[in-house]
Amino acid sequence: MRPTKNFIRRCLYVVFPVLSALALFGCSGPQGGGQGKAEPVQEQYLSVDELMAMPKIDAHVHLRGLLDSEVGPLLATLQKHNMRWLTISTRGMKREFLMDQIDLAAKLHAEHPEWISWATSFSLENWGAPDWESSAVELIAEGFAGGAVAVKVWKEIGMVLKDPDGSFVMIDDPRFDPVFDYIESRGKTLVAHIGEPRNCWLPLDSMTVNNDRKYFAENPQYHSYLHPEIPHYWKHVEARDRVLARHPGLRLVGCHLGSLEFDVDELARRFDKYPNFAVDLAARVCHFQVQDREKVRRFCLKYQDRILYGTDLGAGRVYMQTSIDSTITRIEETYRNDYLYFATEREMEVWEVDGKFRGLALPADVLKKIFHDNAVRWYPGI
Ligand SMILES: [Zn+2]
Repeated sequence: MRPTKNFIRRCLYVVFPVLSALALFGCSGPQGGGQGKAEPVQEQYLSVDELMAMPKIDAHVHLRGLLDSEVGPLLATLQKHNMRWLTISTRGMKREFLMDQIDLAAKLHAEHPEWISWATSFSLENWGAPDWESSAVELIAEGFAGGAVAVKVWKEIGMVLKDPDGSFVMIDDPRFDPVFDYIESRGKTLVAHIGEPRNCWLPLDSMTVNNDRKYFAENPQYHSYLHPEIPHYWKHVEARDRVLARHPGLRLVGCHLGSLEFDVDELARRFDKYPNFAVDLAARVCHFQVQDREKVRRFCLKYQDRILYGTDLGAGRVYMQTSIDSTITRIEETYRNDYLYFATEREMEVWEVDGKFRGLALPADVLKKIFHDNAVRWYPGI
């Protein structure tokens, strides 16, 4: 299977430099720098179409319950966008739900390795049982054997999972250490959605973006503002940071801007402190869009090796019944908005954000890292 995958990838890289060279003459972004001495070559920018044609990876999506008849239309959409998907299996406290995703991901990866990569996870249904650790490692090992490149941990750790004494189990609980050690020993990556956006601890009308407002209105069980017993925002961040410190050899990709979406300075401090830490953008691009544009742009340039493109898009019966047509419409809309935002400086609007804002117009080499190369580096084997 690998030769096919590599062959296709090599072909894509023959096409891409040609497009990049063309971009030199038809650039859509600003001419960077202007100081004239450091850079012999001018910054290169991509148009939306050029970014669409470039090989890319969406490093955070969810596939579940996809019908055989829906695979073709989905793959055609991914090919159109030259976008490989990393589908992340999640929810350890619902083993059946988790196994559905694992089985589908492993099958689609085996059939379409050039378009579908996957992350596995482990069960928490038997948390506290004597065989919990061995069964967790066993399921992870099976996943790696089936080509999984990472292991997911979800916010249920810290917000839902409890010990018999009623205390919440946090991600830095030493009982997880052997699992993390195993992932590290196999050269794989931990992909961690721990905690929630800071908005989760605010009332709905104080939230900074509309998608958080919608999600927590529809999922009040996760709206921590209503549940003072749930550990506070910073407790989750601090527990995750302790995992980073305790496992310096373990690559950890923090989902959703590592739950530090509200201020790029908070992320910058962790990037400086923890070289094993990167983040994906899944469902949090809007949190860039409500922050100061120049500050966000400087952040993306400085930490261009630590940011992975991801959307949290889903296909199949992920959480509810959704037709493949409406799924494809949503994919198209999300990708086009994101191309516009990252590649151009155009003024734009999205439903998640009140008011207008301008795109970041990141240079081509930075786009190539965020939309592709960083996923390859942080998820070896993807
Ligand atoms: Zn997700």
